[in-house]
Amino acid sequence: MGLLTALDGGYGDRADAITVDGTALSLEQLLGAAGAVAERAAGAPGLAVLARPTAETVAAVVGGLLAGVPVVPLPPDSGPVERAHILRDSGAALLAGTGLPEDAEGLTALPVDLADRPSGGWRPAAEDGDRTAFVLYTSGTTGAPKGALIPHRAVAAGLDGLADAWRWDAGDTLVHGLPLFHVHGLVLGVLGALRTGSRLVHTGRPTPAGYAAARGSLYFGVPTVWSRIAADPAAARELAAARLLVSGSAPLPVPVFERLRELTGQAPAERYGMTETLITVATRADGERRPGAVGVPLPGVRTRLAGEDGRPVPADGEGVGELQLQGPTLFDGYLGRPEATAASWTADGWFRTGDVAVIEPDGFHRIVGRASVDLIKSGGYRIGAGEVEAALRDHPGVADAAVVGAPDPDLGQAVVAYVVAADGGGVGERELVDFVAGRLSVHKRPRRVVLVDDLPRNAMGKVLKKRLLEGDG
Ligand code: ATP
Ligand code: MG
Repeated sequence: MGLLTALDGGYGDRADAITVDGTALSLEQLLGAAGAVAERAAGAPGLAVLARPTAETVAAVVGGLLAGVPVVPLPPDSGPVERAHILRDSGAALLAGTGLPEDAEGLTALPVDLADRPSGGWRPAAEDGDRTAFVLYTSGTTGAPKGALIPHRAVAAGLDGLADAWRWDAGDTLVHGLPLFHVHGLVLGVLGALRTGSRLVHTGRPTPAGYAAARGSLYFGVPTVWSRIAADPAAARELAAARLLVSGSAPLPVPVFERLRELTGQAPAERYGMTETLITVATRADGERRPGAVGVPLPGVRTRLAGEDGRPVPADGEGVGELQLQGPTLFDGYLGRPEATAASWTADGWFRTGDVAVIEPDGFHRIVGRASVDLIKSGGYRIGAGEVEAALRDHPGVADAAVVGAPDPDLGQAVVAYVVAADGGGVGERELVDFVAGRLSVHKRPRRVVLVDDLPRNAMGKVLKKRLLEGDG
């Protein structure tokens, strides 16, 4: 069917082409179950999928794509408010999945059964690259989740770019245990396997033991997953035989990068992307793995940096500016939000990521953070939260740290650090302030250090800095 080339045949038919949480399907079985969904979904304005980490979820998503109906993945743990927002906003008419709520959230229920098959006359919708494949909701890290319209052509371009960068092909076994409602686990992690013809093992949950037991050649994880694996040497050593360990969705702390290199004999390859752009910048399989850097643009992707005044910032390893993009993986806009859509493009047609970055002269990109929360403006200085976080993490008494700019009458914003103490605790505020002041410019030292048990994170392991700020009286 074009986008998911593995389903067109030619890859043989292993009994376990796709395994999700222990349920294995051949491509023929998957195509059958998905065809049955597609036949019932044809013509619907949208197919919401209750995206539990199951084989039925994969069948439902593939069914929507085969029918040419926009697929709206719904986080299974979303609260009633988030769920209602997504369903209402997306305009989906059908809700597919297993164990659906009795009222199907007000939609028409489409229960998925892996044994179902389409009738003899069923055919997939004709291919159309401009058709919306997904309405993917952003993570809501900085505001209410927005529905990004992702066309078939963007998915195809993004996956082909990754296949090129990572030499990803039918000989691979991809392992991950990421949520199936987000671009990372679903588009890259599931559709990537179905486009390259590689085996997929979804571990259900992304535990170190699950990753270690799966024996893949290619592994995807978010930094929280990698940090747990780095803390579990026995599991990490099992990954030594893998070809490529990939991290994305949030910044990978350098100590985790180093520890994985030590334990597995290979450094992880970091990559950068967002719901709106899919994957755009990645460390290549045969290229250098540079700690703190996310790699180089994928084929066809162009990047540039712009200052707050919109003027170009040089890609010289020093200049800091907003990362702007052009290329074949971009979305078609936010559903029902013309203003937000217009605001995310510059007058000369570049997509504004809202992330602040540095580009090295050799093309490697470093993500400084989000312009809205990670770039702190304090007393006339511009301070990258990530640099202060990295300095704090270098202290042996610190397990994790998040730095924000809290409103301050004198400085505009004050650097405030939220710190999770390492085992045993006992690290003091004064000590940490002095520690940072001794490593970075004095204006970068935290004005306040708040010790917390845990940092608030969403399902993708992103720190919810807005929540930290709201809690900061
Ligand atoms: P919202 O847009 O609703 O606030 P979100 O931006 O977190 O949520 P996503 O599209 O899931 O939603 O995440 C994309 C963002 O994740 C990027 O804009 C960037 O800030 C961050 N990100 C992704 N990969 C990396 C990476 N390798 N290093 C640093 N940040 C990353
Ligand atoms: Mg975003």
